[in-house]
Amino acid sequence: MIVTSQKPLDEILSFISPYNVVLLAGCDGCTQPPRGLREAKTLGQLLELGGKLRGKDFKVRVTTSPKQCDSYLTLTTLEPQIEDVEAILSLACGLGVQTIAQVLPDLPVFPAQDTLFIGAEMREEGSFEERCAACGHCILDLTAGICPIARCPKGLLNGPCGGSVNGKCEVDSEKDCAWDLIVRRLEKSGRLSLLEEIQPPRDFWRVPRPGRVRE
Ligand code: SF4
Ligand code: SF4
Repeated sequence: MIVTSQKPLDEILSFISPYNVVLLAGCDGCTQPPRGLREAKTLGQLLELGGKLRGKDFKVRVTTSPKQCDSYLTLTTLEPQIEDVEAILSLACGLGVQTIAQVLPDLPVFPAQDTLFIGAEMREEGSFEERCAACGHCILDLTAGICPIARCPKGLLNGPCGGSVNGKCEVDSEKDCAWDLIVRRLEKSGRLSLLEEIQPPRDFWRVPRPGRVRE
């Protein structure tokens, strides 16, 4: 899931301050925590109230898209609702914002979220943890299904660094050492010999460049 965090209200208000009628678009896709219609309604009320306190009478309409990064779904959901709308505020990840910019090029669009990372929900801790940095060359086959790029603060391809204590990371003692987890899992499945092969530095010609497209 794409983990996001809502921007401060003041920042969002500064985006929409030149406009009077704003469409606030939630997303029912993979954005986490959920940012659908209910969250859009709550933020819409806060923005109207925040506007009033600043002497501005915003009209914030709310809607949601089944999956804001899907250009067809987003166009067909939002287009019928934009007749007198002056700007769109997106509650999706950065991908959703860019999809709106693409399918509705005549309207300004603003992000209500900061997009943080691709992560998993840690239900017991009530938090989200980064699990993939979308590096473009997945090596989970060599690392027992645990990503050292996203989960080791040093992003080591050949670990561990030697600093972990009792299985905890030397950079953040609250966190498990990713390489300790990798070693234990490889050991359990009889594949420790994978660690004997030194992983070379990344071939950045293989890792796609910015602006990349997957055919
Ligand atoms: S190696 Fe890690 S960062 Fe790269 S694609 Fe795999 S899970 Fe994602
Ligand atoms: S202790 Fe483990 S997770 Fe932390 S930096 Fe070293 S190898 Fe990476």
